Amino acid sequence: MSTSISADPSVARRGTVEVEAWATPAAHAPLEPLRIPRREPGPRDVSIEILYCGVCHSDIHQVRDEWGGSLFPLVPGHEIAGRVIDAGGDVRRFKPGDAVGVGCFVDSCRECEACLAGEEQYCARGVTPTYNGRERDGKTPTYGGYSAQITVNEDYVLRIPESLALDGAAPLLCAGITTYSPLRHFGVKAGDEVAIVGLGGLGHMGVKLARALGARVTVLSHSPRKRDDALRLGADDFLVTGPAASFEKNASRFDFILDTVSAAHDYNAYLNLLRRDRTMVLVGLPDPTPLSAGALIGGRRRLSGSAIGGIRETQEMLDFCAEHGVVSDIEVIPIQKINEAYERTLASDVRYRFVIDNRSLDDAGSENR
Ligand code: NAP
Ligand code: ZN
Ligand code: ZN
Repeated sequence: MSTSISADPSVARRGTVEVEAWATPAAHAPLEPLRIPRREPGPRDVSIEILYCGVCHSDIHQVRDEWGGSLFPLVPGHEIAGRVIDAGGDVRRFKPGDAVGVGCFVDSCRECEACLAGEEQYCARGVTPTYNGRERDGKTPTYGGYSAQITVNEDYVLRIPESLALDGAAPLLCAGITTYSPLRHFGVKAGDEVAIVGLGGLGHMGVKLARALGARVTVLSHSPRKRDDALRLGADDFLVTGPAASFEKNASRFDFILDTVSAAHDYNAYLNLLRRDRTMVLVGLPDPTPLSAGALIGGRRRLSGSAIGGIRETQEMLDFCAEHGVVSDIEVIPIQKINEAYERTLASDVRYRFVIDNRSLDDAGSENR
């Protein structure tokens, strides 16, 4: 690691350190080692040594520019867990050694209605994404957690309870909060019949969290392969979505449906599984899919969407997970296996989240770990 002064005036002439990272230089290109600058902590910043970073399907969407407008080189990663190594003079809540997390955003306008309500993820001026975005100066690119260190304003840093293993806790920073927030917002409670569609990184957290809230959980999966896992994770029932009979037999069954699927599929068929006046929430972000008005009109059903969660709710979720002993089921990989991990995620071959061991960044360039 070397110290240098950034050539970019937008970092206010504060020093930067160069750290190891992995980035993709262009859409669809494989990830490869890259050194990136990190600012030295300002008065309210903390510097974090990143120990683990989860691999979210959103990383893959953005690396491949599937949502458009990706900024390259792109260092993905927004499920960051690590320890504070340095803190600015005005930092109140953190000190070196603390276990901390960083999720999908590192700043927001702090003034709009959403920010003032603690729902920064819906900031009217747009959040500052942890990666594939720009700082609030509109210039400095943000780089994510496939890197050795990150510097973040303390208001956007989460405390990870010491009882949670840092590797298993990393995916809580996106997969955990993205499923917790709609379950809470829509008032899922003990005894409710909840369907989780898609048993991937988000879906398996949805199962664990809905169970911890006391719901009866059914997993809807596109193949029978994950039945045993679903039941082991806490589901009460499992349905394969291929056969039409699954939809006919379970019409009007569920109080709440959380759809985490990353690939295009027919929402209308799933809406028919809701009871009258109940809600289905989309958190997966596939290509556009047609929606039939009839699927909503019959039964006055509601279709909603939900994005991650605010800082306050993310902290609440981490504390809830500590209380209920919930972490992600993970497969820890060295960064050198990241391109392979993307292929396996796309093939639904992950049980249930890849997590990078960031110490492997020291071996940048080695493909043979
Ligand atoms: P993931 O681990 O890859 O899981 C996605 C799941 O979708 C798979 O495990 C699979 O479950 C199902 N699936 C995949 N291909 C399918 C196909 N062709 N047909 C039907 N089902 C298929 O992904 P993830 O990290 O959980 O992310 C899921 C989605 O949520 C992504 O689109 C991601 O960008 C989005 N996301 C949204 C937010 C938000 O704030 N709203 C936050 C994070 C991620 P089965 O094998 O069980 O069918
Ligand atoms: Zn994510
Ligand atoms: Zn705002």
